Amino acid sequence: MTAPRLNIDLDKIFHNARMLVERLTGRGISVTGVTKATLGSPEIAAALLRAGVCSIGDSRIENIETMRRASIRTSMTLVRSPMLSQATRVVAHSDVSLNTELNVIRKLSQAAQEATKLHGVILMVELGDLREGIMPSDLVDIVRKTLRLPNIAFKGIGTNLACRSGVSPDEKNMAQLSALATLVEDNCGHAVEIVSGGNSANLQWAFGGASVGRVNDLRLGESILLGREPLQRKPIDGLHTNAITLSAEVIESKVKPSQPWGTVAQSAFVEKPLETDRGDISQLILAIGQQDTDPFGLAPPPGIEVLGASSDHLILASAQDSHNIGAEITFQLNYSSLVRAMTSPFVEKVVNAERG
Ligand SMILES: *Cc1c(COP(=O)(O)O)cnc(C)c1O
Repeated sequence: MTAPRLNIDLDKIFHNARMLVERLTGRGISVTGVTKATLGSPEIAAALLRAGVCSIGDSRIENIETMRRASIRTSMTLVRSPMLSQATRVVAHSDVSLNTELNVIRKLSQAAQEATKLHGVILMVELGDLREGIMPSDLVDIVRKTLRLPNIAFKGIGTNLACRSGVSPDEKNMAQLSALATLVEDNCGHAVEIVSGGNSANLQWAFGGASVGRVNDLRLGESILLGREPLQRKPIDGLHTNAITLSAEVIESKVKPSQPWGTVAQSAFVEKPLETDRGDISQLILAIGQQDTDPFGLAPPPGIEVLGASSDHLILASAQDSHNIGAEITFQLNYSSLVRAMTSPFVEKVVNAERG
């Protein structure tokens, strides 16, 4: 088989999605399955839909277009604020977008009029993580203005936490989102149908037992694909953490000193500082590097340790004296490693057929 290679197990992805959908349904929350880490894979989107997600979300209109071309028929949400320059494409191929700028929504309205379509808008609110979002005190005013725009359907509000600053979703900020939904209804006389509470980082809160208030949607990517919650990166009960793995091939296996020699200056990539001298070690090189993945987000099998990486070489220490040249080592990966591997043209993507 070709290496390096992402091994994508659709059955495990289906299982993860199904478990999350079932558990959240019990809390009155529907799931938007987020495909952005998969380059908008139509096979993965189809597995998520079979598992019961109510819609598909992606951050790139290009990925949404890929899924449309592959005849994925469901409501599609663009989860990054649309670029003004892409408004026409956004209206043509997505049904809903998450928004924070009135000028963008005006442009979407124009594009929707030209296309004689209705485009759904969810307004994102800033609740402390300092990525996207309208400041809460400006929300009512922007909802009022959005409601007046032709061919725009105001669907609801949402927030996104834990992505930039690591601010965790909790009872306090989620209660604030619920309160804002009610405030909007009281002031604008329009139902807030969707209250989209956040991403995989919301699961601890959602399963925590406290009331979920008005939150009725979560946008989940990482937890479905990797089976982990992103706050502590702990495995989620009953989910597979190896639905996607990365295999790479051994191109050198030698016993070498653990410390470099000569005059040491900067290397091509910033690396973890070298640890203490361990004497001679069994060192492996795999044909994969910074161009293909995030080397330090890889979880190697027992007995193997990631030491460093350059553009094309991954350096490992092994507890085993030597490895066969041409052998493969398979890793679990974190989100950063996954996203980079998915977007590298050098990494083959092999999707195992669903067993049903
Ligand atoms: C990426 C993203 C998600 C999904 O996040 P995960 O941590 O992968 O579940 C949800 N909402 C927005 C706005 C995003 O950008």
